[in-house]
Amino acid sequence: MTENLQSCCLANWKMEMELDPAKDDLPLMANTRHMLVKHYVLDLDVDFKSQVIEGTIVLFFEPGSRCKKGGSAGEGACLSQSDETCKIRASEPCHSPVTNVSARSSKTGYNDFAVCAKGEKDTSDKNGNHSNGEQASGISSSKNCCDIENHGSEDFLLVLDCCDLSVLKVEEVDVAAVPGIEKFTRSAKLTDAEELRNLRNQIVHELVTLPADRWREQLYYYTRCSQAPGCGELLFSTGTWSLMIRKAEVQAPRDFPCAIRIWYKTKPEGRSVTWTTDQSSRPCVYTMGSPINNRALFPCQEPPVAMSTWQTTVRTASCFVVLMSGENSAEPAQLQEGLLSWYYYVTMPMPASTFTIAIGCWTEVKQESHTADVRTNNEFSSLFSRADLRLIEGSCGHVAYPCRFQNPAASSQLVIPHRVFAPWCLKDRCAEILLELIPQCLSAAHATLGTHPFSRLDVLIVPSNFSSLGMASPHIIFLSQSVLTGGSHLCGTRLCHEIAHAWFGLAIGARDWTEEWISEGFATYLEDVFWAVAQQLPHDEAREQQELKALLRWRRLRDEVQNSEEELQVLRPNKENTGEVSESGTCIIKHGLNAEKIFMQVHYLKGYFLLQSLAKRIGEATYFEFLRKFVQKFHGQLILSQDFLYMLLEDIPEQKGYGLSVENIIRAWLDTSGIPKPLLEECQTWDQCRLVRQVNDEVTKWIQVNQRARKRSKRKRRQDEVAFQKLLPDQLVLLLESLLEEKTLCLRTLQCLEKTYHLDEQDSEVRHRWCELVVKHKYTTRYADIEKFLKEDQAMGVYLYGELMVNEDAKQQELAYKCFAATQKQMDVSSAKVVAEMLF
Ligand SMILES: [Zn+2]
Repeated sequence: MTENLQSCCLANWKMEMELDPAKDDLPLMANTRHMLVKHYVLDLDVDFKSQVIEGTIVLFFEPGSRCKKGGSAGEGACLSQSDETCKIRASEPCHSPVTNVSARSSKTGYNDFAVCAKGEKDTSDKNGNHSNGEQASGISSSKNCCDIENHGSEDFLLVLDCCDLSVLKVEEVDVAAVPGIEKFTRSAKLTDAEELRNLRNQIVHELVTLPADRWREQLYYYTRCSQAPGCGELLFSTGTWSLMIRKAEVQAPRDFPCAIRIWYKTKPEGRSVTWTTDQSSRPCVYTMGSPINNRALFPCQEPPVAMSTWQTTVRTASCFVVLMSGENSAEPAQLQEGLLSWYYYVTMPMPASTFTIAIGCWTEVKQESHTADVRTNNEFSSLFSRADLRLIEGSCGHVAYPCRFQNPAASSQLVIPHRVFAPWCLKDRCAEILLELIPQCLSAAHATLGTHPFSRLDVLIVPSNFSSLGMASPHIIFLSQSVLTGGSHLCGTRLCHEIAHAWFGLAIGARDWTEEWISEGFATYLEDVFWAVAQQLPHDEAREQQELKALLRWRRLRDEVQNSEEELQVLRPNKENTGEVSESGTCIIKHGLNAEKIFMQVHYLKGYFLLQSLAKRIGEATYFEFLRKFVQKFHGQLILSQDFLYMLLEDIPEQKGYGLSVENIIRAWLDTSGIPKPLLEECQTWDQCRLVRQVNDEVTKWIQVNQRARKRSKRKRRQDEVAFQKLLPDQLVLLLESLLEEKTLCLRTLQCLEKTYHLDEQDSEVRHRWCELVVKHKYTTRYADIEKFLKEDQAMGVYLYGELMVNEDAKQQELAYKCFAATQKQMDVSSAKVVAEMLF
């Protein structure tokens, strides 16, 4: 076994060394099948002056499935979903790099348009800025891999994912020194060093496997253990993408320390967090859903199978509010004058990539008067006080944790406690538009899917440089300021989308990140469903709105398929190899750093159409009943596409006769590029829906108005007496998109268009199309609208830069340069790269 492990470690090494930094693939280096992290304790100081986060992280491990003495895979430590992987892949050769795509499942970028970022392949700095090699210490220069081999060719290497971090020291933690910890040990006598080492690992083992109803005690001892003294420094080395740790003479993972402490510092340029200023010009820092997730924030095990819990203490100046993925809504403790400490924890194991933090001078936005209409004050702690804790053994499919699905009080909670935070200047806008939407959307979600997987929610309006309209993480949703414009439609739909991720993307995650559609397809599909319920629409109206939405998405998918690489259009690029990892647990995320992919929406759209098509076939009532069963079965776990499809078809056997088979669905929808064939048949119907026909009528009127305006342009002006219908925001989008297809629209028509619909007051989706019209027809008097859009709606403006450049109009290009110069410094790396590519 040792030999086998050793060759894996070397393969790991080679994999890293052979990686071409110019490629757009992202490696996941952690050897999760040798050691599996169960809990992180972070203890951090955040300094805004130096833009550095510094502190310690303590990791608690279980030896992984590959390392159990004599045990079969899936037994013992590898309790989670990963055991299935273990069984299936046991005979797989070492280091077969598995293609595996995409950023965090919860990322929901605004990527409505196919951005033609030709040649844009890599978000990494050509100078190798990813590397933290120069910071390496402990063993020797990390750049020399032979050195490592010489020193430790017999030793086991623990590999963690990390980049852009300065690691200062790594040590073993003496958990046996914690007072009262004896109760976790079966044998008390310690005679030699080996026994002491075994004792420490035994303590950690007992601690990480405590039953779910002892979660408070478990958290307490995690804290105590994380503060225990060190008992020996460990050798370490950093590579471009990883931190490697070994202990002299330890050759098997089961003998490796199960509690280790790492001292480290982030770098200001590290790409897991963005240091910037908010809309009120005050400093802030937040995780922005980078393709590299959190590995420039803390060393971790990135592969999704490494589901773990965490607790975090953050100290920072008292003017800041610290928000985080934590199930408690933390109250800060004052440590000294001007310094506060914030503490958050979670008890539900989740991939480290879902951890999110935001620190800034945010203001909590509160309801002026009525709060009594919704039950929002149940705190997790009171729901799960020991007295009424009713954990039904074996009723959930996940590893044991205090699960809300097993708690009747939690299950019947329509609206979970929530708070809203925003920069001071957006406080009123939030109070006006966002506050009352949250309970509506939360209860709509509960009505559709049942139990909220998470106990509470913070919603934060993030700085203007945030590159998408929203992002969902455990207990926290980021929303762009762009959703606060216009009426409530855009804000409501986006909120519904992010809320849906609590079920699909977070509580049920993709086991293989290439299957992004599992979270994005579901969230896009459910966004319509939730929003219709939230608005309390009658059934027919809901259906009409959904058909209109389907048409808009169909147009987008069609454009995207025409304008992107075929390879990027496949929902399951690894086909039957999806979910595979190497023997040590490493894999490669194919296109994980591809900037073009980040702006593509094909996974949202094709996934959405698949789910919609299934709903149509099966009937909505049956379909939603099934979705609730599916959630009941798979929450707290990671899935592959076929888990969903097999359960669906088993549940509804009579459908198999209609040519609905898992194989057919996979072939038609998941494994091929382009538009799925079944969709080509369906798309005809949307044109006929009432809301679309209404838009078409209006388009006709506008074309006539335009023709008359052109004829009359030299004669006396007379006001056109045309009565235009009032349109919904999505109808306006369709109207403007249709008018964009017209070759010429004279200025008077544009002027009239703007006045008729008050376009400058509409939501950002509508204004975006308006800006496109302004660019296309060189409507110079409204260039200010474009400038405003590019500065205030950065989540959506990338495509518009391309439009400004493509006309080769000096004035428009000047406008593009001017706006880019004003925002470039704040823009996130991917967006800035794509825009720069268009401009220069
Ligand atoms: Zn459960």
